[in-house]
Amino acid sequence: MTTYIVLLGPPGAGKGTQAEVISDRLKLAHISSGDIFRENLKNETDLGKLAQGYMNRGELVPDDVTIAMIRERLTRPDCAQGAVLDGFPRTPAQATALDGMLKELGGTVRCVPYINVPSEVLVSRLSGRWTCQQGHVYHVVFNPPQVAGKCDVDGLELYQREDDQPATVERRIRVYLEQTSPLIEYYRERGLLREVDGTQAIDQVTADLLAAIQKG
Ligand code: ADP
Ligand code: ADP
Repeated sequence: MTTYIVLLGPPGAGKGTQAEVISDRLKLAHISSGDIFRENLKNETDLGKLAQGYMNRGELVPDDVTIAMIRERLTRPDCAQGAVLDGFPRTPAQATALDGMLKELGGTVRCVPYINVPSEVLVSRLSGRWTCQQGHVYHVVFNPPQVAGKCDVDGLELYQREDDQPATVERRIRVYLEQTSPLIEYYRERGLLREVDGTQAIDQVTADLLAAIQKG
């Protein structure tokens, strides 16, 4: 049986942080649409060049391009048991497309944990976020690395994302409220939404998420 879990929540809610742990515990692939775009940006692929402007402005990359990218990712061998989706879907069109893709693969979305964090907390989370090229995430205050500026997992140099500066963060939160938050209702109507308090300590959020997923 394949298990597909969609993590929903605003930018800075902790989706990436939690997806890393949960995918490891449940032996599922971790699919981060933002990480795939950033990888393409780094490698200067056509997809990366197309996505760059949207990402720098804090807007969403168009649905057709994003959906095609995730479709390809979901068919890779490491997704045979399923996946934790982090950052996709972000629009109703993407959610409908995901349902179609999973049907083709013989699966469905099993549950949608919604990591709820109020907007005023998000700015301080994102302005203190440091990341490595492999997508491991830290926070200067809330989750610092053991050695300043270095990733605990792979020793790579940490950097701050361009789109984490305050003006772009505000834009991204607005885009989330307008285009992504309707998915809360979309999944609630289907009985799949599981709300988790994302303002708690990281370990407590993990525990709540695993409990919510176990309940199905
Ligand atoms: P998202 O993928 O939803 O944008 P991240 O996982 O990248 O969110 O987390 C955003 C920032 O907040 C990171 O710096 C991360 O270390 C920090 N963070 C994540 N979860 C928590 C938490 N429960 N409490 C405090 N800080 C957190
Ligand atoms: P965050 O961790 O703060 O939620 P992400 O790393 O998920 O941010 O996304 C960074 C950027 O990549 C987004 O602002 C957007 O431009 C693009 N992006 C990521 N996922 C999607 C998606 N599902 N649809 C459209 N654009 C996306």
